[in-house]
Amino acid sequence: MTPAGLPNLASLSWATMDAQAVNVDAARRIVIIEDEASIAAAIAARLRSEGFSVEIAADGPAGVDACGRLAPDLVVLDLMLPGLDGLEVCRRIQSERPTPVLVLTARDTETDLLVGLAVGADDYMTKPFSSRELVARVHAILRRVDKAAEGTTARPIRLGDVVLDTDRRRVTVSGELVHLTPTEFDLLAFLASRRGSVVTREHLLGEVWGYPDASGARTVDSHVRAVRRKLGENVIRTVHGVGYAARDGEETGA
Ligand code: CA
Repeated sequence: MTPAGLPNLASLSWATMDAQAVNVDAARRIVIIEDEASIAAAIAARLRSEGFSVEIAADGPAGVDACGRLAPDLVVLDLMLPGLDGLEVCRRIQSERPTPVLVLTARDTETDLLVGLAVGADDYMTKPFSSRELVARVHAILRRVDKAAEGTTARPIRLGDVVLDTDRRRVTVSGELVHLTPTEFDLLAFLASRRGSVVTREHLLGEVWGYPDASGARTVDSHVRAVRRKLGENVIRTVHGVGYAARDGEETGA
């Protein structure tokens, strides 16, 4: 199966849904879907100590079920699961309700990365990882969600035939709605807000992902490829040796 052949999934704006669900006093819910009990327990303990409410699911179907019941703020998802492959779990979760997903993988190949991004994962960690690093990533993803939920009153940004509605977090190509993952949207919106400027991968990691991680350049490249696959090669320019830039465009009067 090719990433390009995947169905166009959630068309709901998670920013909107999150804004409706905002309750700063409630503990944020995280569902961990991981069949290795020791890893799941270690992650859960660390996240609980950070004040999160955590539920563990030990296989794919239980994970999908837990997400349906709990509507978590974030899912930590292992790719290699009994019952249902992690990618299929991600697909099902996203088709129910757009949810931030941090993928754990023992595999570290580009194909896994691309397929994972295509089904809506927001970030990746390759095993083994430290629970401190995991907590940092979880906080970074949730900060992005919060920022998105705050909403803006910016006018849509037009990049050729691609139009970004930053209020509703929607993207259209020649008027057709295209589903971007939250991270893909944030990446494109950040570049589009700096049209004419070239942005380095390190800067993108800091601004879009929320952490300056020198080893994360490949994550940026993979997301850029995913955006191009969905919106056309020209939407983001590669400036060799420097970084990326949005194609030239203009704000619409709409
Ligand atoms: Ca596993």
